[in-house]
Amino acid sequence: MVSIKQINRQTILDFLSWGRSGSEGIKCRLQVLRNFFWMGNLQGWFFIEQDIIRNEDFPKQKRGNPNPLTDTITEQIENNLHILPEPIARMWIISFFTAMRPGELAFLKKDCLVQEGENWKVVFERKKTKDWHEVPITRTIAKVIQQQVSYIQQLWTDEWDYLFCHYQGLSKSDPTQPNIIPVRKIIPKKHNTLKLAICCLIKALNIRDDNGRLARFSPNLIRHTRLTQLFEQGHDLAVVSAWAGHKYLATTSIYYTHVSCELIEKEAGHIQKSLFNADGQYLSYENLPSSLRLNPRAHELDLSGDHINTPIYGYCGLPLEQQCDKFRACYTCRCFVAVVEKLPLYIKTRDELRAKHSRAMSQGQDVLVEQFAVQEAQLDKIIASLEKDYEQRKYKDSQN
Ligand code: SF4
Repeated sequence: MVSIKQINRQTILDFLSWGRSGSEGIKCRLQVLRNFFWMGNLQGWFFIEQDIIRNEDFPKQKRGNPNPLTDTITEQIENNLHILPEPIARMWIISFFTAMRPGELAFLKKDCLVQEGENWKVVFERKKTKDWHEVPITRTIAKVIQQQVSYIQQLWTDEWDYLFCHYQGLSKSDPTQPNIIPVRKIIPKKHNTLKLAICCLIKALNIRDDNGRLARFSPNLIRHTRLTQLFEQGHDLAVVSAWAGHKYLATTSIYYTHVSCELIEKEAGHIQKSLFNADGQYLSYENLPSSLRLNPRAHELDLSGDHINTPIYGYCGLPLEQQCDKFRACYTCRCFVAVVEKLPLYIKTRDELRAKHSRAMSQGQDVLVEQFAVQEAQLDKIIASLEKDYEQRKYKDSQN
């Protein structure tokens, strides 16, 4: 039997190295002991040094990443955002696209939207890392931000600096939130507006996870879900890391820390610049399949050629779930998307086609002559449009 007088710091250290309890068990026992020693000292039952148990003795709590929302849950939420009041739906759209933390969304300023030429980006302060972060965004997201700016401006003009606000009267059962009243307060951590509204939507629509349980949602999951989604869609780890300003991913390689906003733009933004179809007509970015906007790589065409086949460069605008029933007929296909970055390759391919065309003619290969002539004509149209667009851009840049 050990007397209380024999208990000292070494006893505690021996207990810590005993190793028969899990970290939860150690934590629990240390806390009970600490309380007991404190009470004993206070009541005068015994005297024990106050630092016999130190804060550093408690096992560190390991915090894993939360599980991201599954694609099915995200899809169901996004398909039903129109049920929510518009400003709340906009909270989801903006935070999801930019992978913002809830606190960053709450403090997002009205002047966060920045236009550079034809490109847009969101610039915001990150309290956690005490820095400013920028994420390139699409024209659609820029439009959503503009709508929110005009909504909040109508509410409180210049008396309110932030893009979003808190709401009173949120319902737990009616996702249309008929009784909400905007309040001139930052979105709070507790009773977070977005959390309450999305949880209400999940409940009303009975959105279930893969195990059949009602889906759980917290605004912290948005960032994690978005980053996982970007990574799974094939974006480079460095790009995902830079997109998020994500420390954990960034430290995986020195190279990753050098990724700039320009590289993100190159990865995600280039597909929204100068898009043309096979007839050299301008293509609207918004009308392309969403997977092409989110993950251009999955749609990229980069097929080498031989003496009969023509190399193909560009993007296939067919939704990923649809099968292509043509074979290498991209330059005459209505789904083909040409981009300015590939202009030198189109010129090279067209010149090679001309040479093949003359060879096939001299050898009397009529089928090939016809095939090459059609592709040549399409490439001529694409090249003409891209060159014109390129010149216009150069002119605009020189004016800025
Ligand atoms: S032929 Fe058309 S649908 Fe098929 S891969 Fe080429 S662009 Fe896509």
